[in-house]
Amino acid sequence: MRYIDPHIHMVSRTTDDYRSMGQAGCVAVTEPAFWAGFDRSSAQGFYDYFRQLTEHEPRRAAAYGIRHYCWLSVNPKESEDVTFAREVMELIPGFISKPNVLGIGEIGLNKNTVNELAIFEEQVALADRLGQLILVHTPHLEDKLKGTRLIVDAIRRNANVDPERVLIDHVEEHTVKMVLDAGFWAGITLYPDSKCTPQRAADIVETYGHERLWANSAGDWGHSDPLAVPKLRMEMARRGHSLQVIERLLYENPARFLGQCPKFHLDGV
Ligand SMILES: [Zn+2]
Repeated sequence: MRYIDPHIHMVSRTTDDYRSMGQAGCVAVTEPAFWAGFDRSSAQGFYDYFRQLTEHEPRRAAAYGIRHYCWLSVNPKESEDVTFAREVMELIPGFISKPNVLGIGEIGLNKNTVNELAIFEEQVALADRLGQLILVHTPHLEDKLKGTRLIVDAIRRNANVDPERVLIDHVEEHTVKMVLDAGFWAGITLYPDSKCTPQRAADIVETYGHERLWANSAGDWGHSDPLAVPKLRMEMARRGHSLQVIERLLYENPARFLGQCPKFHLDGV
């Protein structure tokens, strides 16, 4: 059964992961720009990272029959240094028309600081100016509820941004309703044993439905599972959900959201 993993950091994964994902039915991935696990020493580090995301990684994915798309931004963690963050933002227009770039992401908040919020709002305005889709990271654990509220309010302050063109990711039981009620798309991120497991994700879908919702692995350099999405597929099948509902959540929904960018298509690699 085909699926899309719409949030995964493939630069941190091995070619074996690409192979396993392709064998499990993955036909496309989208990779937001994020924190590398360490702070870059200069904006030039992002120049090379953006080249990796737009030139090198699509070729690596294509060898396994997977289409690779990406998002560009300065991540919340490195937004704390606003001068540095603005230098990175200046690089984005030079890459935005590359054929695999779908929009601005993952922007958002990490510790809900004033500096993070300022750069978040500037990147929302940048996306608006450049006519781009937006992918938003919400903070984890105790910062999530407050951070999600701050994010929803900040986007609403930019009246030009259509909520249907924004996906707010890493939602959990206590934030999904707020995001959907405000008209945004919501992303469920699956983790192997902490935070949202495939079982909890299936519970969320059963409680809130599968409109404007997608699921992803967010696989990266930390403890994570690049096959988390097919594991949710198995959990939903085990619970008796129809193939139609499963395919809607794991393939058609991401294709519908991402397809708002005319560069996104699923034919060939
Ligand atoms: Zn991420």
